[in-house]
Amino acid sequence: RKYQKFALIIGVTGIVGNSLAEILPLHDTPEGPWKVYGVARRPRPSWNDDYPIDYIQCDVSDPEQTQSKLSTLTDLTHLFYVTWANCETESENCDINGKMFTNVLNAVIPNAPNLQHICLQTGRKHYIGSLEAIMAKKFVHDPPFHEDLPRLDSPNFYYTLEDILFKEVEKKEGLTWSIHRPGVIFGFSPNSMMNILLGLCAYASICKHEGQPLTFPGTKEAWNSFTDASDADLIAEHQIWAAVDPIAKNEAFNISNGDVFKWKHLWKILAEQFEVENGGFREDGEKKSLGEMMKDKGGVWDEIVKEKGLLVNKLEEVGKWWFVDVVLSNEGMLDIMNKSKEHGFLGFRNTKSCFVSWIDKIKCSKIVP
Ligand code: NDP
Repeated sequence: RKYQKFALIIGVTGIVGNSLAEILPLHDTPEGPWKVYGVARRPRPSWNDDYPIDYIQCDVSDPEQTQSKLSTLTDLTHLFYVTWANCETESENCDINGKMFTNVLNAVIPNAPNLQHICLQTGRKHYIGSLEAIMAKKFVHDPPFHEDLPRLDSPNFYYTLEDILFKEVEKKEGLTWSIHRPGVIFGFSPNSMMNILLGLCAYASICKHEGQPLTFPGTKEAWNSFTDASDADLIAEHQIWAAVDPIAKNEAFNISNGDVFKWKHLWKILAEQFEVENGGFREDGEKKSLGEMMKDKGGVWDEIVKEKGLLVNKLEEVGKWWFVDVVLSNEGMLDIMNKSKEHGFLGFRNTKSCFVSWIDKIKCSKIVP
């Protein structure tokens, strides 16, 4: 038999889904090459179509569609759930995200007799609360965050997903799970709802085009404090490790690069990468969010796209400004990787190097100039 493992990635064009789609089919991946099926709603983008995977267009919020398109994948051994829906309120998030996950599990678990393991990706909001709580800066736990911290006493769609997972795996003997909690992810995908690097690259390109310095739109605390990031390929490696290593079964793990950085240091690198003056953090003048600064820049982006022959036409597709604004206004967000290391996962990334290599990939793929 050519394959030992058969994976389904829900969210295959997302920031981590795209890394999984690249890594799983490789010969030197643990138990690889894997046969891979990947799901997303939009047609397959050109930057994803080199990977040897079966691409399935399906909206997993629709139970009938999910059942008809995913119940036929009877050879599956592993499920990687790396998607989500972003709703107005956290109670809607719990409802919609819970339904999406349930639709997938209902289509897969009863129909894939060899299903062994489910990787669920959630994130640091497990410890700091929903986006609503983050905006209000209501934090309960003190960083660095570790996996044994108790759940917060507020609605959180990550808890909904976990509870559905725990209940559903009970229905099939021997079916195991792992939960993966990254912080802010550094990766490639232009189809991601939260890709901070893409937003920063688009902002830097606009500053360069307009001959303006690259000023830091966040807070002084975020500029000066230590924080960390999670490389998308490292998260994919972490999920694959948990999928095949018996020691990682039925556990939740943080997944971050294993080092720390300050935004003021990455900012210098960002300015260098786009050959734009580093405007740094400005104490003086009116403070504007990046969302406000970028709201009239659609026309500038159109000019850049035309001049440089870029792939992504609309500024709002590359710049998820709300997310950049949230990340650059928080301080001291850190987790610890002890649990993964104690269980045998020793992977890490040098955050400065990964920052530069993802920017290179985004530029080489003609997403930004
Ligand atoms: P992305 O937003 O990067 O990707 C989402 C993927 O799912 C895309 O491929 C998208 O493609 C697909 N998708 C979205 N809705 C549907 C649907 N209804 N049916 C089928 N496919 C769908 O995902 P992330 O990796 O960012 O998010 C996964 C988890 O990671 C979330 O819980 C998120 O909160 C968490 N996380 C993310 C961080 C980040 O920095 N991005 C940081 C920490 C945690 P299409 O739109 O074409 O359907």
